[in-house]
Amino acid sequence: MLGIGRTGWIEKDVPACGPMDAICKPIALAPCSSDVHTVWAGALGNRHNMILGHEAVGEVVEVGSLVKDFKVGDKVLVSAITPDWGSLEAQEGYAMHSTGMLAGWKFSNFKDGVFAEFFHVNEADANLAHLPEGMDLGAACMIADMVPTGLHGVELADVQFGENVAVIGIGPVGLMSVAGAAIRGAANIYAVGSRKNCADLAREFGATEIINYKNGDIAEQILDKTHGRGVDKVVIAGGDVHTFSQAIRILKPGGKIGNVNYLGEGDNVFVPRGDWGCGMSHKQISGGLMPGGRLRSERLARLVETHRLRPEKLITHRFEGLESVEPALMLMKDKPADLIKPLVLL
Ligand code: NDP
Ligand code: ZN
Repeated sequence: MLGIGRTGWIEKDVPACGPMDAICKPIALAPCSSDVHTVWAGALGNRHNMILGHEAVGEVVEVGSLVKDFKVGDKVLVSAITPDWGSLEAQEGYAMHSTGMLAGWKFSNFKDGVFAEFFHVNEADANLAHLPEGMDLGAACMIADMVPTGLHGVELADVQFGENVAVIGIGPVGLMSVAGAAIRGAANIYAVGSRKNCADLAREFGATEIINYKNGDIAEQILDKTHGRGVDKVVIAGGDVHTFSQAIRILKPGGKIGNVNYLGEGDNVFVPRGDWGCGMSHKQISGGLMPGGRLRSERLARLVETHRLRPEKLITHRFEGLESVEPALMLMKDKPADLIKPLVLL
């Protein structure tokens, strides 16, 4: 990212390795919709000459003197969020906000990202995980961000057995939310999107109904399908600042909204007074950055190894070589109809 709206290639020194850190080279990379919000919507504000990317599988090329569990040559899952685990925020249970709001998100936000020949990982023992033997590199790369984020939406919405759930947005993140809601025992899953291949995969992952937001108001359509009762929980993984109004409208009193969508534009999120029970509906909204770290990556890897989750199915486009990051990122920006997620192998 050269500046807002501008991308290109830049030369930088190989990053320095602190005593608890690791330097890795990527062996698989994927661009994220968040990279698109950061560059083209300027959502995080100005960033100059910053290397993009936070989704990678890596190979360790250097470790600091205090690193215990990783050595040069190890293949590793790299979490997109790499908190400072000793921070007070982490001790409070919000490691993703360690040292400040969203500051556990370092790659392509507060420091150079992973679309480079070498990248730096802070607190290697806590933020890397060993790549399980035989794991598909596409699936492994999705464990960096798509899997933890989609599942975090389900956690935030607190989906329980037998509940009816709406998942708004079925790009790669929302598709993992659909799969996560199914794993958590949701009954009816209303998945909102318009692209056919996303809808097909949503069905495969457990969606019971597809709602196309281009065919009319989402709230009307879901209320219609639920005989006016609405749903117990809503996961938001797409849409914009107006999506919250629709989510609140379809939510039963006491229901919860889990938002993982990164709002790239707009100043305010709209909460409709009447649908929010004039402030007394007990309808909760919580939005969160995905949790990062090793334990989380290891647990999600287990879901993939046991085939409860098939994130490799998200990958629709495959590239080879670091230079292919550029066309892969442009695909993510343009979102052609046949795209769910591109993968770059190195
Ligand atoms: P995509 O753009 O691939 O998917 C967005 C989805 O939302 C698509 O299904 C799209 O439908 C749908 N959509 C678009 N507009 C509307 C609308 N007005 N109403 C309802 N649905 C709509 O994004 P990703 O899956 O890659 O990412 C989703 C979000 O998650 C992004 O904002 C991303 O930045 C964010 N994110 C957040 C993270 C976190 O930690 N919280 C981490 C990673 C990503 P269509 O079929 O028409 O495309
Ligand atoms: Zn991301």
